[in-house]
Amino acid sequence: MKIERQYSLKSLNTLGVLSYAEYFAMPENASEIKDCLQFAQQKNLAVKVLGGGSNVVMAKLVEGLVLHYRDESLQVVSEDHEKVTIEVGAGFQWHGLVMETLKRGWFGLENLALIPGTVGAAPVQNIGAYGVEVKDFITAVHGVYLKDGSQFKLLADECAFAYRESIFKGDLDSQILITSVEFILSKQKNVVVDYAPLKQMAEQQGLPTPAVLAQWVVDVRSEKLPDPNVLPNAGSFFKNPLVSLVLFNKLIALYPQMPNYPQGDVVKLPAGWLIDQLGLKGVAFGPVSVHKKQALVLINQGGSGEQVMAAAAEIKKRVLSAYEIQLEQEPRMFK
Ligand code: FAD
Ligand code: NAP
Repeated sequence: MKIERQYSLKSLNTLGVLSYAEYFAMPENASEIKDCLQFAQQKNLAVKVLGGGSNVVMAKLVEGLVLHYRDESLQVVSEDHEKVTIEVGAGFQWHGLVMETLKRGWFGLENLALIPGTVGAAPVQNIGAYGVEVKDFITAVHGVYLKDGSQFKLLADECAFAYRESIFKGDLDSQILITSVEFILSKQKNVVVDYAPLKQMAEQQGLPTPAVLAQWVVDVRSEKLPDPNVLPNAGSFFKNPLVSLVLFNKLIALYPQMPNYPQGDVVKLPAGWLIDQLGLKGVAFGPVSVHKKQALVLINQGGSGEQVMAAAAEIKKRVLSAYEIQLEQEPRMFK
């Protein structure tokens, strides 16, 4: 394993930001991670962990040692006739895992098809799509503490999973490297088709098998979401806000057509709809623009990370002033 200096991260971030890591390495196993941590300690470098770069905004220079962990193993931990528990290396590509599990007759992840990135990053923001969150399938997360290389195993209920959140973005932020994730999957062909596009297809074509559902998700997403290789982006740039009933009642009186999803004593509002209402679809802020088909996605055409953040700040300002809602950003600055 080589530890490289001044390593370009341009192809390792889906916003296509021009960026360099001061030092960069791709460890594959526990002993190589140890070597990297020793190197960082000797040189007094901060250690940072990067997966596929699909949920980060890169700074021009990322100081310290950036680790891109490569373990792509998949092992069966236990199995019976109804379910299987597997342990998957953090370097496994997420969409590849979804397809591999379907091929083997293990179901549950199909709504999460075509999400870019790695298995190791999936628990970090508890990835979700079409009414399914990865936390529903995770039984444990394994990793190492960056400060001393000691290992940990957290059970799912110790991971503080919430809507696009986890302990890895909270108390353990920047302190750990996830090495593998355990998932429990079903051998029964149950599917979730609650979200409108999938529901409509199920009404027209009948309830799909999990493999067919995965293909539907791929089709719907490919139609709506820009391919980062063509139009560099980081997926949804803002989280959908959860607002109080008081604010919701005020807003729905002003915008009776506003889509809304009540969740107990709060209401989830689609951030893309809020941005779209402000006439921002297709609007450019320098090299960064709001995607024409989906207002939640920012497209970066040659801008720096700082320019992406500036565009996001401007959008947040306008949303706050129009709706009294403080949008939260999903991708975070990697610096
Ligand atoms: P990175 O962007 O490399 O990293 C994200 C964060 O996780 C960073 O803080 C990083 O330090 C940390 N991290 C990464 N790997 C590890 C590790 N092994 N150990 C510890 N920390 C780690 N997200 C959704 O939830 N649902 C979607 O439907 C969805 N659709 C998307 C569509 C597009 C077109 C794009 C570009 C993004 C989309 N995303 C979606 C966001 C993104 O794909 C996910 O958040 C994904 O899990 C990020 O994976 P990554 O490997 O690229 O992580
Ligand atoms: P969409 O179908 O246009 O819906 C807009 C928003 O409304 C979604 O964000 C979704 O919230 C919410 N929503 C729709 N139907 C819902 C229901 N039945 N119950 C509760 N909430 C509902 O969304 P889209 O942009 O095409 O994305 C489709 C799915 O893929 C969504 O789940 C979205 O989160 C996911 N996605 C995520 C990213 C990312 O980067 N995070 C990027 C692309 C797509 P939720 O987001 O809470 O599901």
